[in-house]
Amino acid sequence: MRGFGFREHGGLDRLAYVEVPTPVPGPGEVRVRLQAAAFNRLDRFVLEGMPGVPIARPHILGSDGAGVVDALGEGVDDLRPGEAVLLNPGLWDGTCEACRAGREALCRHYQIIGEHTQGTVGEFVVVPRRNIHRRPERLSVSEAAAAPLVFQTVWRALRTIGALAAGERVAVIGAGGGTATAAVQVARYLGGRVAVVSRSPEKAERALALGAEAAFVPTDTRPLDRLLWEWSDRKGVDLIFDSAGTATLPLSVRSLARGGRVVVIGATSGPLVEIDLRTLFWRQASIRGSTMASPAEFDEVLAVLARGELRPVLDSEWTYARAVEAFERLGSPELFGKVVVTLHDLAGSGER
Ligand SMILES: [Zn+2]
Repeated sequence: MRGFGFREHGGLDRLAYVEVPTPVPGPGEVRVRLQAAAFNRLDRFVLEGMPGVPIARPHILGSDGAGVVDALGEGVDDLRPGEAVLLNPGLWDGTCEACRAGREALCRHYQIIGEHTQGTVGEFVVVPRRNIHRRPERLSVSEAAAAPLVFQTVWRALRTIGALAAGERVAVIGAGGGTATAAVQVARYLGGRVAVVSRSPEKAERALALGAEAAFVPTDTRPLDRLLWEWSDRKGVDLIFDSAGTATLPLSVRSLARGGRVVVIGATSGPLVEIDLRTLFWRQASIRGSTMASPAEFDEVLAVLARGELRPVLDSEWTYARAVEAFERLGSPELFGKVVVTLHDLAGSGER
């Protein structure tokens, strides 16, 4: 079968259309014929190569996907070929101590589709039955491909790890990425009062339409911490969603209220920071990490998406033939939302 990914790790010049054996579903597994896939920042890291994560090559990129059931492995009898589905990209073993306690996001063997396994920008993908969800009617194929990774990540980060309570002030650092556009909506849905901080006035403005009540563009004279301090009537912000790292995290910590939390899900500007610990203990504040989600959390946020109360923001949709351009779009300063690759020009075009 055909797919889009790479044969060797490296930069964008390594992106390639590749051929791999069509996967056969084993017991408890399902093969999905993909109709759309979405890229995440993770795909960049997978392309570049991650220490300690050996992967088979050629490799097909993509953690997010939606399509139709194609073939069922032994023991799967509650799905029919042709049913419209979407994928939960998280893979947990179900057997370790964390999994048995219902804390699958902390699974000691946690993996992600498209990172540790072949991904979704191709004709087929095989996943465990428990990773398959019927596609809600309100979600288009492209939306169903765009939602799973970012919405589960944001849901756990804000609700479970960040313990967001209604009425609290929430700041989302960054406005344009898939997680930021989801975070504004989820924070608002959970009853938070949301401010967005972005270097781009256009993106900050667009975040207002997603439910933010304030949008700030920091300057040299009015840096992030000062803007948030004033917005919060000098009480500080209760919860900050910061995936930028080096460039913003020290300022985010300085913007915290007493008992405030920063939740970190990434480090797009760099991983190393210098923090004044006195701020943390004096304000009894915390910095916590979060990644992906447990299946129960996935079910929760999917139910909200199915009701139309959250909506994935699509930056752009590209055909399979233009997958390289789609991937390049991920790095664009204008990016606002998710980059989707539709696979209609790939489907039904030959050998399995
Ligand atoms: Zn486990």
